[in-house]
Amino acid sequence: MSIATEEQTVVDSVEKRLYIGGEWRDASGGGTLEVLDPATEEALCEVADGTPDDAMAALDAAAEQQREWGQSAPNDRAGILWKAFEMLNERADELALLMTLEMGKPLAESRAEIVYAADFFRWFSGEALRIDGTYKQFANGTSRVLVMKQPVGPSLMITPWNFPMAMGTRKVGPAIAAGCTIVMKPAQQTPLSMLALGQILEEAGLPGGVFNIVTTSSSSKTTGPLIQDPRLRKLSFTGSTEVGRKLIEASASQVLKTSMELGGNAPFLIFEDADLDAAVEGALLAKMRNIGEACTAANRFHVAEPIQEEFSRRLADKMGALKMGRGTEEDVRVGPLIDQPSREKVAELVQDALDKGATRVVGGEIPDGRGYFFQPTVLGDVPQGARMFREEIFGPVAPVGAFGSEEDALARANDTEYGLVAYVYTSDIKRAIRVCEGLETGMVGLNQGMVSNAGAPFGGVKQSGIGREGGTEGLEEFLETKYVAVNL
Ligand code: ADP
Repeated sequence: MSIATEEQTVVDSVEKRLYIGGEWRDASGGGTLEVLDPATEEALCEVADGTPDDAMAALDAAAEQQREWGQSAPNDRAGILWKAFEMLNERADELALLMTLEMGKPLAESRAEIVYAADFFRWFSGEALRIDGTYKQFANGTSRVLVMKQPVGPSLMITPWNFPMAMGTRKVGPAIAAGCTIVMKPAQQTPLSMLALGQILEEAGLPGGVFNIVTTSSSSKTTGPLIQDPRLRKLSFTGSTEVGRKLIEASASQVLKTSMELGGNAPFLIFEDADLDAAVEGALLAKMRNIGEACTAANRFHVAEPIQEEFSRRLADKMGALKMGRGTEEDVRVGPLIDQPSREKVAELVQDALDKGATRVVGGEIPDGRGYFFQPTVLGDVPQGARMFREEIFGPVAPVGAFGSEEDALARANDTEYGLVAYVYTSDIKRAIRVCEGLETGMVGLNQGMVSNAGAPFGGVKQSGIGREGGTEGLEEFLETKYVAVNL
C-alpha cells in the first residue's frame, strides 16, 4: 500500500460521528468541523460538530447508566480495561499514524504515546479490583467506623490536543475502574484519536452510555450547561491554566469535584557536579519530546555559571541536528506545531528574549514552506526578565541562563506561579535531596528527563493544578468516601 493510501485507510476507518448512549450519530444541527494535518495545512476529514443539545443528550445517557454501571462487578470493569489495553497495543501502528496525521508529532513518538496510553488501562484494570475501605472502633470504644468508597458519578472530561490519546486514557481508565460514567469532549484539533478510542472501548464490551464522546468546535457553549447540571458530579480537565481557572469558577455553582492538570513552566537545573553527558541527553528529551508541546516540557534551563556555555553549545549541536519534517517521514524528529497561533506565540517569545539581550546559539526562525514548523532553537544568556522564563513556550525552544549558588538556583526555579515539574541534574546525593525538597512542584525528574508513568501520581501544585492522575491517587479522584457510624 502506498503511504497516502495507508493514510487514507486509517482516516477512513475512524468513526466521524458523536458517540452517545452506545450509538454513533450525527450532530443535532448536522454540522461538521474540519480536522487539519498541521504538517500540510490541508484537511484530513470532517467530524461531527456537536451542539449543546448533543452534550446534554450525552449527559442524559451517562446519568441514566450511572446506577447500573456503579454497581457492576469489579471483575467486569477490570476485564474491559484489560481488553482495551490489549487492543490499543495490537493496533498501535494504525493509531500512531492517525495521531501523527492530526497532531503532527513524529510516528515513533505517536507510537510511544499509544503504548503509554494503553498502560493507563493496564494499571487501572488492576486498580479496579482493589477498591477497598476500612473498619475500626470509635476512639472511645463505643461505635464502629465503616468507611466505604463509591463512584463519584457522571464525569465530564475535557482533553487537550498535545497527547490526544494518553490524556484521554489517563482519565477514562480510573473512571471506568471506579464505576463512573463519562462525557468526553476532546480537543477540536485532534478528535480522531478519541473517536478511535470510543470504537475500541465499544469493541471491548463497554456498555452503551458509559463512555460518550462529543466532538465540537464550541467548547465552552457545549460543556457550559453540563457544568451547571446537578446530575454531573465531576469535572476532569487537562489544558491551559487560563481555561482551568474559568472552569473552576464555573464549577463553583454545583460545588463540583474537579481535577485540573494545567500549565507548567518547568525549570531544568544543572549543577556543576552533574554528569554533563547525561544532562544534555535529559535536556534533549525534556525539551524536544512532543516538539516541546507538553506541560512537562523543560521550559527554561538554569545552569551553573561555569558550565553554562558548554551546555548551551552541546545542546545546540544536538538540537540543530534533528531532522524536521512531516511526522510520517523517516528519521523526522521534529514535527510541526499544532497551528498558526501556537507558532506565532513561540516566535514572539523568541523575539522578546533576543530583544532583552539573549544570544542565538542555534535556530530561531520559521522555515519556508507549508506546515506550522519552527526551528529547534537554543538561546543563551537569557535574562531572568525574558517572557519565556515566565510563560509556557509550548515549542522547540530552549532558553539557557546561569545561576550562582544552590540557593540562587532554587529561587530561580521557584520564581513562577506554576508548579508542575522540575528537572534536577546533580551527582551529589545530599544536594539532590535538598533541592528536591525545596522545589515547589508536584513532580521532580532527578537525573531523568521524563517523569510520566502510569503508576505514578502525575500532577502539579500552585497554578499547575488540583489533583493527581495515574497511580493509586488517580483512582481516588473518581471515588467518594462514605463513612457509616455503626451502633453496636
Ligand atoms: P491549549 O492552549 O493547549 O489548546 P486549552 O486550555 O485552550 O489548551 O484547551 C484544552 C481543552 O479545553 C480543549 O479541549 C479545548 O477545546 C477546551 N476548552 C477551551 N476553552 C474552553 C472553555 N472555555 N470551556 C470548556 N472547554 C474549553
